[in-house]
Amino acid sequence: MGLLNGRFAAITGAAGPRGLGRAMAQIFAEHGATVAILDLNAAEAQAVAAELGPDHVGLACDVTDKAACDAAIGDLIARWGRIDILVNNAGITQPLKLMEIAAANYDAVLDVNLRGTLYASQAAIPQMRAQGAGSIVNISSVSAQRGGGIFGGPHYSAAKAGILGLTKAMARELAPDGIRVNAICPGFIGTDITAGKLTPAMKEQILAGIPMGRAGTPGDVAGCALFLASDLSAYVTGSEVDVNGGSLI
Ligand code: NAD
Repeated sequence: MGLLNGRFAAITGAAGPRGLGRAMAQIFAEHGATVAILDLNAAEAQAVAAELGPDHVGLACDVTDKAACDAAIGDLIARWGRIDILVNNAGITQPLKLMEIAAANYDAVLDVNLRGTLYASQAAIPQMRAQGAGSIVNISSVSAQRGGGIFGGPHYSAAKAGILGLTKAMARELAPDGIRVNAICPGFIGTDITAGKLTPAMKEQILAGIPMGRAGTPGDVAGCALFLASDLSAYVTGSEVDVNGGSLI
């Protein structure tokens, strides 16, 4: 079943070896989409795209750079003639306490997570408006809702909470244009961000707070992204969807 047959999708931060973006790219391609992997390193992005199949594209794009976002997404629109789906997935975190956050830390974390979401969206929106359709999926975090987690510092929580406000404002403004905007709040997901950094005691403590008793997988988040990207969610906009095994119950 191809939920995304004939659709064209760009995913930022999708070149990580085990990341969420890569899992989204895989499931989107399996469902018929042509996918662009946008990440810092062009060769890594191209390698992931090549694994998906011949039609997929890998491009360098630093989402903190507005001109780079305009150039990369402009390139895709020139190739494809349209863009149907944008997933703002690129993100970084820093395990700092409140008083350890220097200006450079704050800037770096807000720039990638929050500014990057704005810039990539601004690059895609004119084409989506011209089409009268589009789906934007922003990746927030349970850290926004709980005020932190094991790895994310307060600046990460602030950036991811900012994404929730931005998502709702974008959804409100873009609804008349046929563009839906939603956010996913993943809980504790096993990826490169978390791999190898947990003691057994930390892991036990995390799992004790998850009613489903396991960490999430990138595929768990990708399935939700597929729903939000596809017409199955045609009447869903401005929402934040928790993918956290029940962590907030
Ligand atoms: P990851 O580190 O595997 O992936 C992040 C990707 O973003 C990397 O490929 C990296 O190169 C890219 N990136 C970093 N800075 C960039 C920039 N300026 N421009 C473009 N790309 C850039 O991490 P992940 O776990 O797959 O995280 C994906 C998203 O999910 C992030 O937004 C993260 O905050 C969020 N998230 C992850 C978890 C988790 O438990 N792993 C939980 C909640 C939310």
